[in-house]
Amino acid sequence: MKLAIIGSGFAGIGMAIQLKKAGFDDFVILEKDDDLGGTWRDNRYPGCACDVPSPMYSFSYELNPGWSRLFAPQEEILAYLRRCADKHRIGPHIRYGSTVDLLEWDDDARHWRVSLTDGEVLTAKAVVSGIGALHVPSVPSIPGADRFGGTTFHSAQWDHSCDLTGKRVAVIGTGASAIQFVPKLAEKAASLRVFQRTPPWIQPKPDFVLPRWARAVLRHVPGAQRVFRNAIYWVLETRATGFTINPKLMAPQEKVARMHLARQIRDPELRAKVTPDYTIGCKRILLSSDYYPALAEPHVDVVTEGIAEITETGLVTADGTAHDVDVIIYGTGFKVTDALAEQHIVGRGGQKIQDAWADGIEAHHGTTIAGFPNLFMLLGPNTGLGHNSVVFMIESQVQHVMSCLRLLREEKAEAIEVRPGAQRRYNDHLQRRLGKAVWNEGGCKSWYLDENGVNRTLWPGFTFEFWARTRRARRRDYDLSR
Ligand code: NAP
Repeated sequence: MKLAIIGSGFAGIGMAIQLKKAGFDDFVILEKDDDLGGTWRDNRYPGCACDVPSPMYSFSYELNPGWSRLFAPQEEILAYLRRCADKHRIGPHIRYGSTVDLLEWDDDARHWRVSLTDGEVLTAKAVVSGIGALHVPSVPSIPGADRFGGTTFHSAQWDHSCDLTGKRVAVIGTGASAIQFVPKLAEKAASLRVFQRTPPWIQPKPDFVLPRWARAVLRHVPGAQRVFRNAIYWVLETRATGFTINPKLMAPQEKVARMHLARQIRDPELRAKVTPDYTIGCKRILLSSDYYPALAEPHVDVVTEGIAEITETGLVTADGTAHDVDVIIYGTGFKVTDALAEQHIVGRGGQKIQDAWADGIEAHHGTTIAGFPNLFMLLGPNTGLGHNSVVFMIESQVQHVMSCLRLLREEKAEAIEVRPGAQRRYNDHLQRRLGKAVWNEGGCKSWYLDENGVNRTLWPGFTFEFWARTRRARRRDYDLSR
């Protein structure tokens, strides 16, 4: 086996498709679960949908004229990914139930030893990690949590056997996931308490059903899908200026969000509670047209007091108030930088990835790491976005990996490794730009920044720039060994 891909989400499937297109068949996808789909398989909470328009949140080479809405629901995205995998015959390459535990580079044999949790050890000339940034649920350790007598679960591990009809429900967190399921819970629950630590900025979601005639046009008129996608791309792309060049340019975005809030929440007390005090964009801008109306319902409360503890019967806030509930749902997000940094990877000379990343996680183009030959990370450090589709970033990285693999073949080399200097220059430049961006300057605390306040997650510019930079691996940035 020549190449191992870890994960079968958008990244793993996208990588596999390009390998197949290039006529390369000798690869395996190692998938820990028993189905493909990554985050779109795991997240099945009520109301789960994409907050990036679907024509853009899809592969550029597999446009889908059949999206039912502008922002497709989770089931449709998962079905789309399955269709892509079927069309390109990726299925036979996937080994389900294979959890990678350890990657070790063997410098004599010039290959990776890939150890699975069941004890099996595979070898691969190259490894592409498509594990995604958002897949390890983060559940805060609140004192007393294990005493709770009711049901608890995280939004990415939704317990569908738990009927929430008529229940007293608590939701912890008000991020991108929570604002999608809170309106659905409000329809069912007898009472709903939303524990908010930091209010998000929310803009109206310009979602609509794509009428049959529009879908017919997209399906049958040559070029229509491409024009639609490109239009969405450029609208989203204009937002990069405020995010990355000057946070002051975010003012019009903030105005839209304030007007949305004022229109949807009349009660001044509730409005004050959910009004953020940081620059819009510092945390992900959320899109929803039904979250505020749900909060304004009489059986829904927004609790802003910090949670002090969890008891047998519910939550107690710092002011001593007991909030008795039947179900606690954690909408508390994912371990992002930790999940990357905690991987078990041992590179050239026995160097652990944690040692390579002692000063913070970084990679060249978010993809290759000095000291770790023939290892490629999709959606690695600083490849996330606040303004456009990460599927575009994945495609850009995949073409970079393909370019590295071509270099290996052309030079009849066995290993390719980014030069430390190239990685250093790239990241120094990146961090200089990030220093001016809204995520650092916006006055908020977010998972975009690591414990030292350094942004290790987002790309600080236009996505076409990332595309252009990653298009071809520059020979002088890489060492090739025969
Ligand atoms: P998130 O954005 O990280 O939000 C987590 C929420 O939990 C925040 O409100 C956070 O408050 C709160 N929280 C965390 N720990 C807490 C604690 N100990 N006590 C009280 N509150 C706590 O997580 P998410 O909503 O799951 O979204 C994660 C990411 O997934 C998003 O940023 C987005 O990239 C992606 N996502 C995308 C879509 C999509 O449609 N494409 C949908 C859902 C999610 P603070 O703000 O104070 O930290």
